[in-house]
Amino acid sequence: MKLREKQSDEFINLDIGMYKSEHVPLSALLKRELVNEKADRPEIVSGEANQSKKGEDFTFINTECHRLLGDGVTTYSVFGIFDGHNGSAAAIYTKENLLNNVLCAIPPDLNRDEWVAALPRALVAAFVKTDKDFQERAQMSGTTVTFVITEGSIVTVASVGDSRCILESADGAIYYLSADHRLDSNEEERERVTASGGEVGRLNTGGGTEIGPLRCWPGGLCLSRSIGDRDVGEFIVPVPYVKQVKLSSAGGRLVISSDGVWDALSAEEALECSRGLAPEAAAAHIVKEAVQVKGLRDDTTCIVVDILPPEKTNHNLQPPKKTGKRVLKAMFRKRSTEEPPKLDDGEEEYFDPDLVEELVEEGSAMLSERLDTKYPLCNVFRLFICAVCQVEMKPGEGISIHHGSGNTRGKLRPWDGPFLCVRCQQKRDAMEGRIPSTNARYSSESD
Ligand SMILES: [Zn+2]
Repeated sequence: MKLREKQSDEFINLDIGMYKSEHVPLSALLKRELVNEKADRPEIVSGEANQSKKGEDFTFINTECHRLLGDGVTTYSVFGIFDGHNGSAAAIYTKENLLNNVLCAIPPDLNRDEWVAALPRALVAAFVKTDKDFQERAQMSGTTVTFVITEGSIVTVASVGDSRCILESADGAIYYLSADHRLDSNEEERERVTASGGEVGRLNTGGGTEIGPLRCWPGGLCLSRSIGDRDVGEFIVPVPYVKQVKLSSAGGRLVISSDGVWDALSAEEALECSRGLAPEAAAAHIVKEAVQVKGLRDDTTCIVVDILPPEKTNHNLQPPKKTGKRVLKAMFRKRSTEEPPKLDDGEEEYFDPDLVEELVEEGSAMLSERLDTKYPLCNVFRLFICAVCQVEMKPGEGISIHHGSGNTRGKLRPWDGPFLCVRCQQKRDAMEGRIPSTNARYSSESD
């Protein structure tokens, strides 16, 4: 079996491209598909702004990525914010490699529904691979990552660290699409870090006085998840929180920002101060507002993305209609496979068409839970490919991701896949505190 070609994307998957082109020239196929596709898909308009203090915030925007699928061509958009610390090497490396790692973790022959369903798992594998590859370069910096892929009206967000992504739906409700991996605000993460062998505490100035935010030792990082950070413990993991939602046909606005914005503005304030502005102007205004409140104390970066119904493209600045109160999070409509609510006799089931539907929410740091067999495809051809780094393995060489994980969920057996190569298995064990972290060393540096 041949190791799949690594390739960058805007970017057509040539594996299938060459196969299809025996019958129809690829360019003709692409053109036809893209015309068909555009008619019923939301329009994506985006803008970004930044005020720099340390020069460690980086962004990635590409609204014209194409992928050839088993059943046609799809266009999708990608947005990322990378807030580096202890230098910018990790942020730059992640910006340059993460998308390719995501695409390489998705089998090439999926149809449209399958490829969107495969994204959450591919994002987990890609974050871990990017972290592992960067650490092997022996550079010491780290970065937060908030990575957003929009495909039609489905938005998939993967994040480590504290660069938040929020969504305002067309009816004015606000949703958080990222988690805050800050030790100060996340008790679950404090418990995970402690259980994996790290220590959580404030900086001790020597006289018994403790100052500043909660940090994780060794290393002194305020974040519990990041990419890079070779010089802190392996319990600072790159496994992202992933949220996938489906917007209503009325669309919505995404605001993705580094902590320079969120330390100064609430979600409501950021949305209010930029209401009615096109994305580029909105992003600039949010950054300006944040700097006015707090001064330029940190790199302050913002990306605004409008997901617009196709027919509204030319008059896109409608402020959302304000029906009812803003309700956070709880308003997600759960995906319909769940048991429907009990209805009284005669009452008809009703779904608010404006409601945002939650498809996936996963935050566990355990790879055995994130790369498990819920994966919708049993692709036998990938049996001998490492689920994280995609390297080819000889039969019998791979180690089941469930091996030694104490995963008690019934039918999972240690010889069930997916499988990891030896090095990815070692990384998994280190992240989960099962073997001493090889890279850890004490450092007084903070983020
Ligand atoms: Zn591997």
